[in-house]
Amino acid sequence: MGKTALITGVTGQDGSYLAEMLLDKGYTVHGIVRRSSTFNTERIDHIYQDPQARNRSFVLHHADLTDGVALVNLLRDLRPDEIYNLGAQSHVRVSFDAPLYTGDVTGLSAMRLLEAVRASGTEARIYQASSSEMFGSAPPPQNEDTPFHPRSPYGCAKVFGYWATVNYREAYGMYAVNGILFNHESPRRGETFVTRKITRAVARIKAGLQDRLYLGNLDAVRDWGYAPEYVDAMWRMLQRDEPDDYVVATGEAATVRQFVEVAFGHADLDWTQYVRYDPKYERPTEVDALIGDAGKARDLLDWEPKVRVADLARIMVEADIRQVADQLAGASIRIDR
Ligand code: NDP
Ligand code: GDP
Repeated sequence: MGKTALITGVTGQDGSYLAEMLLDKGYTVHGIVRRSSTFNTERIDHIYQDPQARNRSFVLHHADLTDGVALVNLLRDLRPDEIYNLGAQSHVRVSFDAPLYTGDVTGLSAMRLLEAVRASGTEARIYQASSSEMFGSAPPPQNEDTPFHPRSPYGCAKVFGYWATVNYREAYGMYAVNGILFNHESPRRGETFVTRKITRAVARIKAGLQDRLYLGNLDAVRDWGYAPEYVDAMWRMLQRDEPDDYVVATGEAATVRQFVEVAFGHADLDWTQYVRYDPKYERPTEVDALIGDAGKARDLLDWEPKVRVADLARIMVEADIRQVADQLAGASIRIDR
């Protein structure tokens, strides 16, 4: 019998790659989808299995991380071997506009899920999607021993989730781990995160559909990796004999400005002609520099990143150029100048 996994946030960037990877490994994968008035399953439509089909290996359930009773009921029914808690309000800028909501969904829900595991008597191993945003203003390089100093409601919520995970491990002996992942991107990255906003704009500018890109702070330094490689690290964390916490990062730094330059360069465009500043994209408190030291993951998980930032930008620009071409062929694209 293959293993069974439950993924919260299965419709997100990481959830979609993780579901693909686990299905390839022979898992039965269950995913939590929240109800929406529009379709929100675009990233997993290609692996969707008809509810009428026999012996499904990929099953979706309507639930919400804020609904603790639904979580208990689901866990009682499914009794998964592994749980990946990826669901979150994951946007830092938005967390300043919706701080309490972010605290609830991104922070408290981690404890809600841990408590639901306990209440349902499930023996599952739990992965908590912790974030480099917890380090905030702590100077780089950051590793598992770096003290947290979050700089946003999102960062604060993730710190809560981190400590809840550690506490449940210590208090109840649960197999619960934190993956402290640095920024990771892909063609499936949400369109309002800076990398995807940039690569999407490059594709649209190249196609003549847009002539400006408005950005905020170009000086921020990030350690950008490739999402499919990062979900592999999540899985590796749950295969160890003992639960522990790990930083996952490339160790390479780039500014937003450098990412812009490389991304526009891949399309033979001079970024200075198109990029303009809009203070609306600044945050009340900024995280200046995140550069991870993933030595522990390399040594204990045998995990190493292969895709570096220039390749990442190329992968994303090429994918967005293809997407714009497909949309134009279908003539369904909105032209905003
Ligand atoms: P996304 O924003 O792409 O996905 C977030 C997922 O959470 C979506 O499936 C979303 O559903 C779901 N979700 C949001 N609110 C709820 C809720 N109330 N109940 C149930 N599900 C909900 O994030 P990523 O895939 O990029 O990231 C995965 C996790 O890793 C997140 O927790 C994020 O904070 C964390 N992380 C991400 C990093 C990155 O660089 N990508 C870095 C470090 C940590 P819907 O599709 O309906 O919106
Ligand atoms: P974050 O690291 O989780 O906040 O990921 P983002 O992709 O949202 O932001 C990365 C960095 O890009 C942050 O330092 C932002 O301040 C900076 N940035 C500059 N302009 C923009 C913008 O227009 N949108 C976003 N999302 N970030 C921007």
